[in-house]
Amino acid sequence: MKIGFIGLGHMGAGVAANILAAGHELTVWNRSPGPVKALAEKGAHVARSPEEALQGEILFSMLATDNAVREVGLDGALLARARPGLVHVNLATISVDFARRLAKAHADRNVDYVAAPVFGRPDVAAAGGLTVIVAGSKAGVGKVRPLLERIGRRVETVGEAPEQANLFKVAGNFMLAAAIESMGEAFALVRKGGIDSRVFHDVLSNSLFACPVYQGYGSAIVAEKFEPAGFPLRLGMKDVGLALEAGRDFSVPLPLASLVYNHCVEATVAGFADKDWASLGKLLATKAGL
Ligand code: NAP
Repeated sequence: MKIGFIGLGHMGAGVAANILAAGHELTVWNRSPGPVKALAEKGAHVARSPEEALQGEILFSMLATDNAVREVGLDGALLARARPGLVHVNLATISVDFARRLAKAHADRNVDYVAAPVFGRPDVAAAGGLTVIVAGSKAGVGKVRPLLERIGRRVETVGEAPEQANLFKVAGNFMLAAAIESMGEAFALVRKGGIDSRVFHDVLSNSLFACPVYQGYGSAIVAEKFEPAGFPLRLGMKDVGLALEAGRDFSVPLPLASLVYNHCVEATVAGFADKDWASLGKLLATKAGL
């Protein structure tokens, strides 16, 4: 199948490599040239403009933010020059409101639009083990599902309105942020009382909280290991902000999200924007005088 891919960042590069490894003809575009070279060496065609990536049957995009999607032109102008019958699969974590607008912009230009945001960090993306949350037309989702099964270990369709997948994703990332916040506070508390936070984390993450979130992020907080960032704080802050926006849309109070958002702002000011978002734990320790 002829497939295009726009956005070869930490996540996109691994996903694109898996699509290529599945034997498809892949055309890639990225704003900066570095990641394009690596994919070209594996056999991908290099697009000279984003438009060239829209000339296959399917386009995947994995851009950082709503604004990046706008700057590339995937909210309008560019879509008008897509190959007829193109299905655009947007893997990024974008706002619910923008997802709604994108669905309309695509429909107006007869381009099928599927939202497929993902859970899992760059190493999971590279290993083809993502959890993919999908929403879009039955025809569009049906067409892209085999490819999504190639990049993810679980592919869950949650509705026909694309923004439903984005709502699911931002709610999930808010839960991750809340877990990091609660661990940061609890670790600071036990440390102030003279308890080794490594033992505290080891006991809890192997009993009551035996799951990847508490094990992975907890270990990073205890070891103060925030680089290289699997998921940078700047993107985590974006996602908590998207949860707050969605809360306003649906009239759902999210006081915990407001708190975590403000801590992300403080962490940004402290210089942690490009460190892993587990560095919120470091901020909370500092606030406790540690
Ligand atoms: P990233 O490494 O920062 O990559 C972002 C991509 O967007 C790069 O290709 C970047 O191009 C491009 N981009 C950013 N601003 C742009 C602009 N104004 N115009 C054109 N291109 C632009 O981010 P990532 O970690 O791959 O994340 C991508 C998406 O997946 C985000 O929505 C994120 O929230 C979501 N996500 C991330 C993770 C994770 O653990 N990292 C997990 C699940 C979901 P350049 O290479 O030129 O900078």
